[in-house]
Amino acid sequence: MTSQRHWRDRLLGTLQGQLQLATYVTVFLGFTGASCAGLWVSERNLFRQHSMMVEQSAAGIAQALERLPDPPSRLRVQQQLESISDKRTIFWFQQNDGSLIFPRSPLQPPSAYLLERAQAQPSQQVITDAQRRFLTKEVQRLPSGGSVWAACDVSVSSLAFSSYISWMILIWSVCLVLTLLVVTVLVRRIVRPLRQLSELTETVTADTLQNSHVQFSAAPEEISRLAENYEELLQRLSLSWSHQRQFVSAVSHELRTPLTIVGGYIKRTLRTGDTLEVSQRNGLQTAEQETLRMRHLLDDLLDLSRGDSGRLSVSQQPVALLPLLEQVQELAQSTQQRSIVLLLPDSAELIANADPDRLQQVLLNLIENACKYSGPQAPVELALLSSPDELTIEVRDQGIGVPPEDQERIFERFQRATNAPAGEGSGLGLSVVRLLVEGMGGQVSLRSQLGRGSVFSLHLRPVERADHT
Ligand code: ADP
Repeated sequence: MTSQRHWRDRLLGTLQGQLQLATYVTVFLGFTGASCAGLWVSERNLFRQHSMMVEQSAAGIAQALERLPDPPSRLRVQQQLESISDKRTIFWFQQNDGSLIFPRSPLQPPSAYLLERAQAQPSQQVITDAQRRFLTKEVQRLPSGGSVWAACDVSVSSLAFSSYISWMILIWSVCLVLTLLVVTVLVRRIVRPLRQLSELTETVTADTLQNSHVQFSAAPEEISRLAENYEELLQRLSLSWSHQRQFVSAVSHELRTPLTIVGGYIKRTLRTGDTLEVSQRNGLQTAEQETLRMRHLLDDLLDLSRGDSGRLSVSQQPVALLPLLEQVQELAQSTQQRSIVLLLPDSAELIANADPDRLQQVLLNLIENACKYSGPQAPVELALLSSPDELTIEVRDQGIGVPPEDQERIFERFQRATNAPAGEGSGLGLSVVRLLVEGMGGQVSLRSQLGRGSVFSLHLRPVERADHT
């Protein structure tokens, strides 16, 4: 049932299928129609030829019979009939009273069955009798009454015609199959550029826009024009994408400095403003948090925009993870009101290939998320696991978790999980995390259970001691 639907979809649901089907039907009808018409004309000509020969043989018999005294003697009639009859074609005479006169032996008169069938249709007809085929017809009707009939044995011609039909059917089938194969190949060739175009479309992303080109050397004019238009469209999109990146980069840059000044001013006011009322202090603290959030957002936008234009600098150098993680835990603990638990292995020194500043940024981002998406008291763990091939840093929480269908998507820009509380984020942080970690030659992965918590893991390449020194 499924494969049936699959075939129906392939045949009717694609341009190639529709073209093939239309050509198959046309070719089939054309072939069959032409062959049937050819056979019909051949058969008609064959019998017409026999009929004309019979009529020619009987041409003079009407005058000869008319000249005989009335009523004509049976013997004279028989002599006339014998003069034009032979083993293949028997002529007989039907008198006014319906009685029949046949040529004498050794010529065989037609069977009673043949006579009866012939009488039923005086105009030409083909009758099968005792496995032989006869063309019968009333050849002449005399003015004085009575008529001359003929039965011509056409078995040999019929046999030849049957063999001709068999050959025709064989040739027809072979030609049909060959034609359908050729049609299939041609239709495939015709739609190939369209297929290529669609495959290319599937692979185009914002990153590959600039290097995506559509060129067909030997495509039909319509498809070449479509490809040209598509190429131009790609160029326009690439240009506008690059303008957009420049715009985001410029805006982020321009906004960062005033925001830093505003943040610094608020911080200073909070520190030195002993006379501030509680409500004023609360307002300034909210303003400070919002400034910080805006700074993070702008930093993320700037990183992404630099990543897109290839200007993001992420170094890969040996980084001792234990001190770095301790520093991150301290930093995170100073801003979060909950316990950030650090779980480290016993190894003395674990060194990964990474960018220390960027790694710190990534971890703080993940810890911030872990706190944001779990209950106020739920602990967050920062753990380091080591194996010979890999060093893994895990940020674990006991929060809301990520639905399975969103776990891949949330690493893309502006994507948030369906269970994320409204208005609490931009959906940019994880895309920056992935960008930075991959820039260090590492990978990010997520294990999560809805309602039970998430584990974001950074997989980094370890640096061998020999490499390091
Ligand atoms: P946002 O600013 O929305 O936090 P991110 O890119 O950092 O943007 O995260 C994308 C989405 O991934 C979030 O909106 C949230 O739905 C989900 N997410 C990220 N971290 C966690 C987590 N620790 N627990 C549950 N969901 C998370």
